[in-house]
Amino acid sequence: MPTERIYRTHAVVLRRHNIGEADRVLTLFTPTYGKVRAVAKGVRRMKSRLAGHVELFSRVDVLLAHGRSLDIVTQAEVRDPFRALRGDLWKAAYASYVAELVDRFAEERHDGPESRILFDVLVGALGYFDRLGIVAPAVADGAPAVAVPPPEVSAPDAATGPAARLAARAAELKVLGALGYAPELYVCVRCMERLEPVENAISASAGGTLCPRCARGDGTCRHISVSSIKAMRLLRTEPFAIASRLRLDDRDLRDIELALRAHLAVTLERSLRTTDVLDRLRAALPRDSAGE
Ligand SMILES: [Zn+2]
Repeated sequence: MPTERIYRTHAVVLRRHNIGEADRVLTLFTPTYGKVRAVAKGVRRMKSRLAGHVELFSRVDVLLAHGRSLDIVTQAEVRDPFRALRGDLWKAAYASYVAELVDRFAEERHDGPESRILFDVLVGALGYFDRLGIVAPAVADGAPAVAVPPPEVSAPDAATGPAARLAARAAELKVLGALGYAPELYVCVRCMERLEPVENAISASAGGTLCPRCARGDGTCRHISVSSIKAMRLLRTEPFAIASRLRLDDRDLRDIELALRAHLAVTLERSLRTTDVLDRLRAALPRDSAGE
């Protein structure tokens, strides 16, 4: 956590809501300080210097001042506007989902190395959804984005298609991976044997894949194909562009989605409980040893 009164950082605007007559509270995600909540004063006024520089999902450079409860945005400059994320319903929905994922898992004022990894995952995901299905010449910041969809792929089709769904799965796997919660995808979590290229199983409560022998009689797991497991490994480790290159049938797409949804539910429950316990322990400590 920064000790200076004023500090500069890269950030992505995860959320924002209006307060008062012209202010906004921003939830920012930063590579160095994790999640930071800050007020952009007067930002809703036409003449505000901040207006247009702290849009939802944009990547910005900000100068923040420590405030009593929330920090205050004193300067902001857009780095990546990610305009398409605010102009297309589907893209906005995917961007909101990724922002919520990071928001749910990230801690406020956390300066561990995972914040830098999470930040890169967030920027990678937003950039992927922003460009998905759009072929455009590079435009300078501030210039109007000229979106020229190629004739066979229109932007809305791309954003509702399998690539977008797979990119959302990639975001889930990368966020989980950054925090050490990714599902095991190489060995059976029960017997620790390397998986054979046969239909295996996956269990959220067990934490990943199960071989057919260990899956027998286990009511918590579901079948998962060889291609689904291979796809999840690639989505976890390769850049987001892999989502456009994988070819999976509907059943695999749905199986991966259900497996990760279950894994996220179990992990969030566990990690929130952990945070809860830590918070309660911290609250029970004498004030000076709690670092207050
Ligand atoms: Zn096994």
